[in-house]
Amino acid sequence: MRRLLWVMAAVSALGAAGPVAASDYSGPLFDAHLHYNAEAWDGSAGPHPLPDVLARMQRNGVKAIVSNSRPNDGTKALASSALTKQAGVTVVPFVRLYRNRADYDNWFRDETIYTMVQTELARGTDAGPFKGIGEFHLYDSSNANGPVAKKLMALAEDKGLAVLAHVDDTAIDLLMANTPSKGQRTRLIWAHTGIGGAPVARVDQLFAKYPLLMGELSYRPGLTCEGGKLCPEWRALLLKYPDRFMIGSDTWVNQRWQYYDELMKGYRAWLGDLPPDAARKIGWDNAANLFGVK
Ligand SMILES: [Zn+2]
Repeated sequence: MRRLLWVMAAVSALGAAGPVAASDYSGPLFDAHLHYNAEAWDGSAGPHPLPDVLARMQRNGVKAIVSNSRPNDGTKALASSALTKQAGVTVVPFVRLYRNRADYDNWFRDETIYTMVQTELARGTDAGPFKGIGEFHLYDSSNANGPVAKKLMALAEDKGLAVLAHVDDTAIDLLMANTPSKGQRTRLIWAHTGIGGAPVARVDQLFAKYPLLMGELSYRPGLTCEGGKLCPEWRALLLKYPDRFMIGSDTWVNQRWQYYDELMKGYRAWLGDLPPDAARKIGWDNAANLFGVK
């Protein structure tokens, strides 16, 4: 704590000049956007079986994950294995909406997906109940008004579940409008905080409008500039809302597993650009608080 105060004093003494000693963030990481899809492990062996992915988390200081997978078996395997416990990784399981690739373009109007989600929620995992729904994608934002998309948003809010959504800024408004609270009590995690590059001012506006909206930062265009450091307008936004952002690997293809070390090192580098308390919040606390992970 004394060291933290010293660093904060040093930062404020230098005013807005930026970080003093730009050392990497060394605290725990919460990977809030992780997939353990069929092709990563093929039910057991695969190129990335459980010991492999757990070793990657462990050596990068990743102590907790939001896990979802196509199909949900990958998440269940991670959640139930003794190896996960041994690696010191806490699994926060989400129900994925996709049984296969075809579901990507149809989930928002497919009643059988709604039934599948309800069945999975009732069943839960060996690590406890599912804590969220997603990741889901909307390539056309108007599909946020699909009948099943509407029902799932209402269901999530009623049950206090988080929602991980890969959508554009227009769809954020549409999804929020479909909840009982009109987005005032909706725990929506915006995957990539707008992978299409919604302007910072627009992200700011949405964060102001929806008090529980959170932003996950993988693949976010414009986030980092030269040397992997934060771009100035993003640094300012993160410091304006230090309680609202989180990091994630988005291991949607096996290549992302191969680069897991680099991805986490990249996060540690730019987190080190921030005051230590903000770095700790974005790297760990925000997701840990959202899901009650100690
Ligand atoms: Zn993803």
